[in-house]
Order: sequence, then C-alpha cells, then structure tokens
Amino acid sequence: PTIRELLAAGTKSFSFEFFPPKTPEAEEVLWRAIREIEQLRPTFVSITYGAGGSTRDGTIRVTERVAQDTSLTPIGHLTCVAHSRDELRSVIGAYAGAGVRNVLALRGDPPGGPTKEWIAHPDGLNHAVELVSLVRELGDFCVGVAAFPDKHPEAADLDADARVLVAKAEAGADYAITQMFFRADDYFRLVDRVAALGCEMPILPGIMPVTNVKQIQRMAELTGMALPTEVTDRLYAVDGDPAAVRAVGIEIATDLSDRLLAGGAPGIHFITLNRSTATREVFQNLQSHVAAG
Ligand code: FAD
Repeated sequence: PTIRELLAAGTKSFSFEFFPPKTPEAEEVLWRAIREIEQLRPTFVSITYGAGGSTRDGTIRVTERVAQDTSLTPIGHLTCVAHSRDELRSVIGAYAGAGVRNVLALRGDPPGGPTKEWIAHPDGLNHAVELVSLVRELGDFCVGVAAFPDKHPEAADLDADARVLVAKAEAGADYAITQMFFRADDYFRLVDRVAALGCEMPILPGIMPVTNVKQIQRMAELTGMALPTEVTDRLYAVDGDPAAVRAVGIEIATDLSDRLLAGGAPGIHFITLNRSTATREVFQNLQSHVAAG
C-alpha cells in the first residue's frame, strides 16, 4: 500500500525510522530492532539516506529486504546530495525495481553537515521540491517530504518555511514528516500556517525519545532544533544517571506524543537510531490512542 492510502484510512499512523548500518554487527542490531518493531504492526517504517550518498546501496538494500522479507511497508529516503539528475533517476529506478513505491524526497545536508553551505551538483537539483517533481515524473510513487516546526536553519522565517512546504505539496508531495522537536505548539503552529495557505497535506510529527543528553545537544546545534528549558531542566536534573535520563526522555516523548495526537496530529513517526526499546516503550504508553484511532 502507499502511505497516501494508509493515512487516508483515518486511523492514527505509527511509524519508525532506521538508518542503514555500516558493519555486520550493526546490521544484526538493525534487524533485531526491525523484527521487534514488526510485532507492533506499524503503519510503515522508513530508511534514511546517508550523507553524500555514502549509504546509497545500503539504503536500497535494507529497504528492499524490508519490502521482501517482512510484513512491513517501507519508505526509502532519497537526497539530492552529490547526485546528478541521471544518478537520481537510477536510484528511483532501483527503488521501483525493489518493489518500493514510497519515497521521502529530501534535499539533504551539505557534506560536512547542516552548518555548511549548500552547493548543488552541477547536473543535479537544488531543492527538494524539484526532487518531488522528478520522482512523480518517473512513475506511480507516493512521495513524502520534510517539514520543520522549529524552522529550517537556512529559511528566512517560519512563513517562508511554510510556503516551501506548500510548494512541495503542489509539486505532488502526499504528506510530510517533521524534524524532531519538543514543543507541541510549534507543530500546531506549522500545521495552522500551512492550512492558512490552503494546503491540507497530512504532517506527521517526528519524535525521538532522548536517552542521552550530549547527543541531543549535538543534534540541536546541528539542526537548529529548539531545546526548551522545560525539557533541558528535567534532563539536566538527572544527568549522570543513564537510567534516569532514559526514563525522563521516555516520559517527555510520551507527554509530547499524547498532546500531539489529542490535538489532531495524524500519527507519530519515531526516530529509533536502530534501537527499538525506547520507542517501543513510548508506543506502548500511547495504546489508548491506538485503540481510539
Ligand atoms: P528543501 O525543501 O530543499 O529546503 C532546504 C532549504 O531551502 C530550506 O531552508 C528551504 O526553506 C529553502 N528552500 C526550499 N525550496 C526553496 C525554493 N524554491 N526557493 C528558495 N528557498 C527554498 N537528510 C539526509 O541526508 N538523509 C535522510 O535520510 C534524511 N531524512 C530526513 C527525514 C526527515 C523527516 C527530515 C525532517 C529531515 C531529513 N533529512 C535527511 C535532513 C534534510 O535533508 C535536511 O534538513 C536538509 O537541510 C533540508 O532538506 P529539505 O528536503 O527540507 O530541503
């Protein structure tokens, strides 16, 4: 099924994001996590596409195996980084050949990370919206895109960001998934801004339970994600006690997901970092929404 169809079904969507592993040990960890998540019968799982196209083969391989060896519906991510149009066409063709019809179309970050300046491949694409059009041209794909409740670092302001999202919908995107964030109101304001521009595209909130304080600080520096003091205060209070950090991180993610679902979010997209236990706990905490959906 396409994500478009799954979201139209009306029940809350629950999905989980993984990244392609680089070593045989990491591969085992990933597949254990995927098998555990499979038992939860999520709406879909997604596989990220690595910086600079470095995990291109890994992404296609993992996505293909999910499509063929599990009961899960996979989404393959794809970025414009370091790819010519022809290379992008060939990756899209590889997805189609693997039976993958759901693609998340992204620009990607410059090599060296989100703080570096974006430079497009000379024969490539400059913005995700162009990739949405390319994927659409090449076949019957269901296309998702990225959204940013805390604003994309390069965007002038939140309104400019909302207009970019609407342009992606007009180019044929079926839904969006957000960058991780911590304040439900930031998500609802994004949804309102997009709706005010006449766009009804479903926007799935991306949620990651914090299990490590340093890691979250690094991510916030890189992505421009806001780290509100009401969140950091709770985490810093238990910093140094890994079990307590994890418990607080799960509580924060559960409260946030609860508020999002109660306020009308179409589902939750969990960033797993290939470990299923923390996200599974949050998911179990949300069972009332699953039943109600
Ligand atoms: P774009 O939509 O192209 O936006 C990039 C910037 O350009 C924004 O500031 C935007 O406002 C501006 N812009 C866009 N269109 C125009 C226009 N027409 N004119 C002027 N300005 C414009 N990265 C990876 O490398 N691999 C992944 O697998 C991956 N998965 C992700 C999954 C999710 C759910 C999210 C939220 C992000 C993911 N990313 C991934 C990160 C993403 O690639 C970066 O955040 C990137 O910097 C922006 O990607 P985008 O698709 O939003 O780009």
